Amino acid sequence: MYGSNPLQGVKDRAAADVPGVQDLRDAGERREHAVPKKAVRIRDEADYDGVLIMRLCDVHCHFFSTRFLEILTGGLPDLPEADRALEVSHRLGWDFPGSADGLADRWAAELDRHGVARAAIIASIPGDEDSVAAAVRRHPSRFVGFFMFNPTQGDVGGRLRRALGELRLRGICLFPAMHGYRLDEERARDVFAAAAVHNAVVFVHCGVLTVGVRKKLGLPSPFDLRLGDPLALATTAARFPQVRVIVPHFGAGQFRELLMAVDHSPNIHIDSSSSNSWMKYYPGLTLDAVFRQALAVAGPERVLFGTDSSFFPRGWQQPILAAQDAALRAAGVSDEDRAKIFGGNFDRLFPLS
Ligand SMILES: [Zn+2]
Repeated sequence: MYGSNPLQGVKDRAAADVPGVQDLRDAGERREHAVPKKAVRIRDEADYDGVLIMRLCDVHCHFFSTRFLEILTGGLPDLPEADRALEVSHRLGWDFPGSADGLADRWAAELDRHGVARAAIIASIPGDEDSVAAAVRRHPSRFVGFFMFNPTQGDVGGRLRRALGELRLRGICLFPAMHGYRLDEERARDVFAAAAVHNAVVFVHCGVLTVGVRKKLGLPSPFDLRLGDPLALATTAARFPQVRVIVPHFGAGQFRELLMAVDHSPNIHIDSSSSNSWMKYYPGLTLDAVFRQALAVAGPERVLFGTDSSFFPRGWQQPILAAQDAALRAAGVSDEDRAKIFGGNFDRLFPLS
C-alpha cells in the first residue's frame, strides 16, 4: 500500500545533491531559507529500485488572507467591526492569517516541508488581489498569483489592467455559476481578450460548486450550476487559441463535457485538484479511470496536479498527492508523464521570469 507520507522511509537529501534538480529560487530566497526542497521523493513500491525524484508544483491553492475573511463576511451582522477576521477565524477553527507577508512566509515554509517547488495561490474573493500580489512579491519563485474576478461588476478593463499589469498576477479565475453570466457571452470574451494582451491564464470553475467556508459561516450560496458549462467555455476558448485555460477538478461533475471541450479547444487544460467527490455522480467511477480517460483525450501536457489546499492549521493537503500518485500508478502512467503532470506542465505554463 502507498504510505500516508511519500517521504517516509526515504533517505532525505537536499535537492542540491540530486542530479537534475535545479534550485530555481532567486538569491534572496535562497539566503533566507537555507535548505532548498525542490523535489518530492516518491518511493516506487511496485518495482522499488531507489528513490524517484519528481519535481512537484501545485496549480490550485487558496490564499485565505485576513482581507479575504473581512470581505467575505462584510454582510454578516453579528461580527465586531474591529478584529472581524480574528473572530471569523475563531468561528471557523482556523489559525488567524495575520499579515499577507506573514501568511506568505507560512505557505513557503509549508511547501518546503512537503517538497513542493511552486504553487499557484488564488485571491479567493474579488477585492483581495493585493494580498496575493504581496505574497508573490515576497516569494516570486515559489508563488504564481491568481485572482477571482467578477466580470459583471465595476470597471472590468481597469481592474484587469491593474491586477495583470501593476500587480503582476498571472491567472484570472472565473466562477460563472457564482457571479451569474454565461461563458460564451461578451463579458467572458472581454476577460479572454485581456488575458491575451497580458499573456495571462484563465482559470474557469465549471460543474458543481460548493464553497466550504461559505457553508460553514452560513452564507447563502445561490449559485446557478447551469452556467459552469464546459461547452460554453469551449466556444470562447476556441476564439482565443493563444490564451491558456485551466478547468479545475476535472470539470467537477461535467467530466464528459470537459473532455469534449478539451477535444474541441487545444488550449484547455485540466486540473486534478481536490478529493474529486463529484465522482459520486458517476456509478463505479474511480480516480485512476478518470486520469486514464483525461490523459487519453487531453494528453499528458494538458493535465496539471493540484490539491485545493487553503487554510491553516490543515495546511498543504499531502493526502491528495498520495491519492493522485497512487491513481496514476494504477492507471499505468509512465514516470515521464507523471513528471509532466506533477510539475513540468506548471513550469511550462508559468515560466520563472
Ligand atoms: Zn479551489
